[in-house]
Amino acid sequence: MRIYFDHNATTPLHPAVLEAMTQALADDFGNASSVHAFGQKAKAALDLARGRLASLVGAEPSDLVWTAGGTEADNFAVRGIAEALESRGRRHLVASAIEHEAVLNTCKHLARRGWTLTLVAPDQRGVVNPDALRQAVTAQTALVSVMHANNEIGTLQPVAELADVAHQVGAVFHTDAVQTVGKVAVDVGALAVDLLSLSGHKFGGPKGTGALWIKRGTRIAPLLTGGRHERNRRAGTENVPALVGLGVAAVQAQLELDTHRRDVGRLRDRLEAGILQRVAGTVVNGDPGRRVYNTTNISFERVEAESLLIALDLDGIAVSTGSACSSGTLEPSHVLRAMRLPPSRTQGALRFSLGPTNTEEEVDHLLQVLPGLVDKLRSLTRMPVSR
Ligand code: PLP
Repeated sequence: MRIYFDHNATTPLHPAVLEAMTQALADDFGNASSVHAFGQKAKAALDLARGRLASLVGAEPSDLVWTAGGTEADNFAVRGIAEALESRGRRHLVASAIEHEAVLNTCKHLARRGWTLTLVAPDQRGVVNPDALRQAVTAQTALVSVMHANNEIGTLQPVAELADVAHQVGAVFHTDAVQTVGKVAVDVGALAVDLLSLSGHKFGGPKGTGALWIKRGTRIAPLLTGGRHERNRRAGTENVPALVGLGVAAVQAQLELDTHRRDVGRLRDRLEAGILQRVAGTVVNGDPGRRVYNTTNISFERVEAESLLIALDLDGIAVSTGSACSSGTLEPSHVLRAMRLPPSRTQGALRFSLGPTNTEEEVDHLLQVLPGLVDKLRSLTRMPVSR
């Protein structure tokens, strides 16, 4: 049995997406910029997809710019605003310390080229406090970027309040909603943001698809220059079949939002409660009352998370850690470190992220094998018990 509990990393294609993409690959090969009928057919398919995605996030279709995924949308937001506002003397960027690398490393790249960067730490539950943000922004701040939900711990941020703080100093507010769009109801108006990133493969769509929603009137420089695609905001011939797939994923997500919240949420709760009950020395990271319903991040005391991940994988169960392996050394998750959790918590943290294809049997299988694997690893390790 192979079990996939890593839906925050990526999701399988929704069957309806696969069907629509297969047809579009065969039928909609025209260049959407071409005047002839082949081009117009492709353009109509793109327009339909754009309308569908816009409906999912409460946007006007013309305010969405296609991107090749969340990373590009984040880069577009950060670099596009930095470049657009540079001449106005706004050369300060603010981001939360728990942003995805797509935001963090883009800000750090600009910081090496003369922008100043302030990273705002979250509290111990992974929530960014509006007062902490207030301390960080200045009249020179160009952009504030705080994600809607964190990919490792699932914590939801008070985005509308944070956006208000940014707006008080005249800064643009961006939210990376890659982990919420398609999972929870997202409305760009209610969030009161200026820019919002999303990614198709996190909710049943194809990889390499996404969008940046840009509030009308926001000054932003393009990332890709060339032809006049996307109203001069993103040059390049559109990947029509993939974007058709993104549109269908949006329709399905909207239809299935409530059932997923109920069913996937129930499974996540069963999995989490089962682990806490059956495995001693476990604790949930993040804010249990303010999380995306599919995610739980659990620290296993006296366990190296990577060893447990590998043991589970050998058993056919896919989970994830937030740590990065660079040049043979394991770096603890920057998210858990920013939350100031002790090494005993960061080293043994695993993320379980569920999706609509998971079943109760799969959760129960995990609960059956996990205690034995943890016991075995603990018997092999000399890691001290933290006090
Ligand atoms: N932002 C967040 C919060 C993510 O979780 C991810 C993907 O892991 C990304 C951005 C990058 O998205 P993509 O994989 O579509 O480039």
